[in-house]
Amino acid sequence: MRLTVLGCAGSFPGPESPCSAYLVEAEGFRLLLDFGSGSLSTLQRYVGLHALDAIVLTHLHGDHILDAASYVVVRRYAPDGPYPALPVYAPPGAPDRLNAAYGQDESAVDDVYQFYGLQPGTFPIGPFTVTVDRVNHPVETYGVRLEHEGRVLCYSSDTAPCDALLRLAQDADVFLCEASYLDGVDNPPGLHLTGREAGEAATKAGVGRLLLTHLVAAWGSEAHTVESAVGAYTGPLEVVRAGASYDI
Ligand SMILES: [Zn+2]
Ligand SMILES: [Zn+2]
Repeated sequence: MRLTVLGCAGSFPGPESPCSAYLVEAEGFRLLLDFGSGSLSTLQRYVGLHALDAIVLTHLHGDHILDAASYVVVRRYAPDGPYPALPVYAPPGAPDRLNAAYGQDESAVDDVYQFYGLQPGTFPIGPFTVTVDRVNHPVETYGVRLEHEGRVLCYSSDTAPCDALLRLAQDADVFLCEASYLDGVDNPPGLHLTGREAGEAATKAGVGRLLLTHLVAAWGSEAHTVESAVGAYTGPLEVVRAGASYDI
């Protein structure tokens, strides 16, 4: 499978990247993990406006879903459209949240999206075997494990340290893990990981490669985060960039 980073900025768009959105492709199937603010722009730049076959929204924070509201126009009003309803796997409440974000009073966005409610478990999406579980974040949030032909990608979504994250990441070839917070600062509990905590999770889970994401450029030091992660994980490690692709 192939991972393309469409957006990786934590919490709000950064100077160099939209918010969270990750395209994962296999056998011609294109699955989008999260659809954060600004990522509809990079979707067009790197893969094409209508390239999606399914979407997973890991939780309903704006930095992970808001361009799914903008995308309603793309599919509903396209000159060669409307396009068929796109499967969206998301926590309960996603239809109302996207409808409100789009700005409609009554009629829903279910002509554009076919919603499936997420709950912990394993299920297929296209050629992928998908496992999701609740992670440690203030709203209902799912970490994601994607398997295809024996290769494994784990995406942390937003989370503080938790056992579910370690189970999802166990022996993953690539661990795309958030590192929003700086180490050595008095961070609020139950929200996000530091670079050191991301590295510790990667070591405990025995992953092959750690990709750090969801850094907050305006508030953090990337060098500090990397140094903290390297101190806890000795395998290959890097901070992702919008537009970067990885063959897994
Ligand atoms: Zn976030
Ligand atoms: Zn969040």
